[in-house]
Parts: sequence; structure tokens; C-alpha cells
Amino acid sequence: MKRAAAVLLCLALLLLPGCAPRARTSTVYAMDTVMELTAYGDRALVDEAVTLIHDLEEHLSVTAAGSDIARVNAEGHADVDPGTARLISRALDLCKLTDGVLDITVYPVVRAWGFTTGKYRVPEEAEIGSLLEKVDYTAVTVHGERVTLPQGAMLDLGAVAKGWTGDRIASLWREAGLKSGLVNLGGSVQAIGGKPDGGAWRVGIRDPFSEEVLGAVSVRDMAVVTSGGYQRYFEENGVRYCHIIDPAAGRPADSGLASVTVIGPEGVVCDGLSTAVYVMGLERAEKLWRENQGFDLVLVTDSGEVFITDGIEDSFTPMGDYEDTEIQVIRRG
Ligand code: ADP
Ligand code: MG
Repeated sequence: MKRAAAVLLCLALLLLPGCAPRARTSTVYAMDTVMELTAYGDRALVDEAVTLIHDLEEHLSVTAAGSDIARVNAEGHADVDPGTARLISRALDLCKLTDGVLDITVYPVVRAWGFTTGKYRVPEEAEIGSLLEKVDYTAVTVHGERVTLPQGAMLDLGAVAKGWTGDRIASLWREAGLKSGLVNLGGSVQAIGGKPDGGAWRVGIRDPFSEEVLGAVSVRDMAVVTSGGYQRYFEENGVRYCHIIDPAAGRPADSGLASVTVIGPEGVVCDGLSTAVYVMGLERAEKLWRENQGFDLVLVTDSGEVFITDGIEDSFTPMGDYEDTEIQVIRRG
């Protein structure tokens, strides 16, 4: 009887609103973006995540001297952190899945256009041609912690680093027993569990043509990652050049898509695919989605049309200017 009373008391305490875990938050500037962390649990979990972010940035940055990636690029080979080796292997799988539309060796071309250094320019065709000879993810090898590149090649994990970071934070928090959290790493969102009240997280997707959101997707334990040409670009003679490069052309992607959002359980996959799908354009994206399982898409074309895949038909809600837009659903079959 005493035990039953104790159980009831515990239940009552759990149900009291004051007993719900408090939101612990932190805002961090890392990986060239503003990151926002929220955990409904211990403050220490947020602090550990911030440490993890800085640690990952130190390993993965292509520009910071002494990072794993900078060392591989300088010497052509290096022993790297086991986590970095794992990420490179995962990224190479995604390069293969996308037929090289994602290519983590495209860095010499990215650099020639001035992305990552900020010294923007439009390179000559001949220069692009000779740099493209160095671009070939299939020639990268990872044996244990040893990463080796062919002569003149360079790695850049910018297309997958934030998604991977989200995954690492999610694992850290889940292993610590956290039931509810949200991580926004500048366009790369990771939901841990649902909201503290048990409902799904509603993650906003930005309208590529304004500062508003175009809609929201309801998720639990999912990553929601957006790539778009509006995020980082420069203009010259009225032409806009974005930071996502089509490795087949050595030029900024111009596929007719203004933004791509990928929703799935793993941030690293969503991040890699969002970059690749942005380069592919609508038709190839549909094909990739039909031939593979485990992710959904929200695609916005340059003319403002919105396409979603059928897995999120019930969880996607258009908002603002898009409430009156017809949302076109891509189905399997
Ligand atoms: P963001 O970091 O702005 O969210 P992405 O995840 O789409 O954007 O990654 C873009 C970054 O990836 C670029 O800044 C560049 O470093 C790198 N990159 C650009 N094009 C490609 C590509 N086709 N394959 C792999 N990496 C790329
Ligand atoms: Mg990406």
C-alpha cells in the first residue's frame, strides 16, 4: 500500500508542469554559421555538445592549419582522428550513391571560385578544366585511420560536416538519456525525440526568396537539412554564383532548384544528399528518391513551385505565402 502511494506521488510529480525538464540553451558560432542548441535536461549536456562542436571543427575544417583535413591536403596522406576517418568513409559512400554529384574532392574548384577564402572570382575555362583533372573521389582511400589522396587532390567535408555534427550531438544526448532536444546548425536541424510535451517538433523550412518560412515539417528523431544557393554566393556582371559546385562542369550549380530540404534519420546523409540534389535538379532528384529508401524531400524550383515526396505528405504544412501554393506530391511507382 505504501509502495502504491509512493508510485502515485511520483506520477503526480511527473505530471506537474513545474517538474518538466527545463530548456537549456546555447548559441555558438562555429563552422562559419550560427548554431543553436536546446536540450530539455542537464545544462552539462549542452556544454558537452558545445565542446564537441569545437572539437569537430578543429578536426574537419579545410582552412584551419593543423586540422585533419588540412594535413591530408598538405601531405597527400595523414593519420586522422577515427571519427574523421569514419566521416570520410560515410561521405565517400554518398559520393558513390549520387554518382559523383557529391564529390568531396571538388575543393580545388571551390577554392578557385573563391569560396572558403572569400576572394571571389570567375575562373577561366582552361583553369577549371585543369583543376577538374584533380577531382575524383574514387581515388581517395581510407585504411583504418590513414587517409590517402592522389597527387594534387584535396578533400573538403563542408557538404557533410554540419549534418555529421548534428548526428554526433544526437548520439551524445541520446546515450545520456535525453528525451527531448533540438539542434539547429545553420540550416542543418536535428530533432532528438519529440517536444517535452510529447508532441512532434515542427521544423521550419526557409523560403529561398524571402526571410520567411515556406512551411514546417513535423518530426521526431529526424534530421532536416536544407541547401540553397541563397545561403552563400557572390554576384558578378549581374550573374549570381553560389557555393555549391557541379563537379561535372566545375561551375556553380544551376539546376533550376532554389532550395532542397532532405528529411531522414541521419544528418550526415541528409546533408550530403541536400547538396547533391541541389546540383541534380528536379528530375534526377525524383529518380534518386525512387531508387532509394529512407529520406524525403522538399524541393523549391527557381519559379517558386514546391514539390514534396509522399513520405511527408501528412507532416508537411505550407505557411505564409505558400499557403495558397499548390504543393505537388512526388509518389513512388
Ligand atoms: P552549407 O554548408 O551552406 O549548408 P552545403 O551542405 O550544401 O551547404 O555544402 C556546401 C559546401 O560543400 C561548399 O561550401 C563546398 O565547401 C562544398 N561543396 C560544394 N559543392 C560540392 C559538391 N558538389 N560536392 C561536395 N562538396 C561540395
Ligand atoms: Mg550539405
